[in-house]
Amino acid sequence: MNTPWGYPDFDAHEALHFVTDEATGLRAIIAMHSTHLGPAAGGTRFWHYADDADALTDALRLSRGMSYKNAMAGLPLGGGKAVILADGNRTKTDAMVAAFGKAIDRLGGNYVTAEDVGMSVKDMMTIAGQTKYVAGLPVEGGAVGGDPGPHTSLGVFLGIKAAVKRALGKDSLSGLHLALQGAGSVAGGVARHAAAEGARLSIADVDATRAAALAAETGGTVVDPTDILGLEADVVSPCALGAILTEETIAALKAPIVAGGANNQLKTQEDGRRLQARGILYAPDYVINAGGIINVSTEYVRDGGPELVRQRIEAIPARLENIWAESAASGRDPAAVADAMAQQLIGRG
Ligand code: NAD
Repeated sequence: MNTPWGYPDFDAHEALHFVTDEATGLRAIIAMHSTHLGPAAGGTRFWHYADDADALTDALRLSRGMSYKNAMAGLPLGGGKAVILADGNRTKTDAMVAAFGKAIDRLGGNYVTAEDVGMSVKDMMTIAGQTKYVAGLPVEGGAVGGDPGPHTSLGVFLGIKAAVKRALGKDSLSGLHLALQGAGSVAGGVARHAAAEGARLSIADVDATRAAALAAETGGTVVDPTDILGLEADVVSPCALGAILTEETIAALKAPIVAGGANNQLKTQEDGRRLQARGILYAPDYVINAGGIINVSTEYVRDGGPELVRQRIEAIPARLENIWAESAASGRDPAAVADAMAQQLIGRG
């Protein structure tokens, strides 16, 4: 990794923008990792960080992930990501979100945003009042747009099925035990698809009300968030926040498959090797969770309708298969294989 500014996660990012608007209390970072394939595209996260350095790390890592994700999904987009630094009460006002929209507009289309954790379709509408460089907007009459979450969930579900086929030789999730970390937008969709196919669900969220509601809806069982990764399950599906696969959590995993929608699941590259050494099949996060950005891209670039979105999402399992096959042939872990493929595509091979 290239770290000329001394930040461990700085990877030759093309630009970093620190945004302040005193009138509304807005503090944000817009990170543009690569515009090699098109405008730097990636959602905005609204989150309360322990300190500013954590926010910067998140923006740097997430934007690089978007470059890789967009390239691997074959989209005409580069990679970027924004984080808005929330206060301890997570106070978010329309004026603050509008000021953020103005900041995006000042970048002249080099950065395009959409929803991420903590940002809603309504927030995207507020941003759209200030700039045209935004997607994830509500649509009517079968057009492409809206919340990317359900599209991400579909891709993750199909990716889980591909992993189950490869690691367990099964064509269906029926009777299999899926441990879901998170009960939000992505996890909710994955849970509904998996329950409809007959999977048994364990669900954990730091927001106990959310976990209980999703469990009630899908016939699942609520599990303490500290236990979810180490459950005796067929699949562990991280669908909350990143950096949860570490030396400690990997040593405690009992499931043969890790496949979920959260971004940046591996704390370090070494953790990809640790999973491989334990014989656990890992679905690289930015490949399996590309469904949302596929929908965003199709909305923003306007190159097709819902049918094309579905076809592009249905291509995710084959992409994972390619990575796993290359991993088996080369002996490198799947995350390293995916990184090498993505770097080649963004001209940094
Ligand atoms: P969300 O805010 O709807 O849900 C996230 C949930 O995770 C929340 O309910 C939160 O309480 C819970 N959570 C946080 N920390 C937790 C912990 N330690 N243990 C258990 N639960 C915890 O967000 P989302 O849109 O579902 O996104 C989830 C993940 O998927 C994020 O990493 C996001 O970056 C990634 N992702 C989302 C999309 C999308 O389309 N929404 C696309 C690609 C990737």
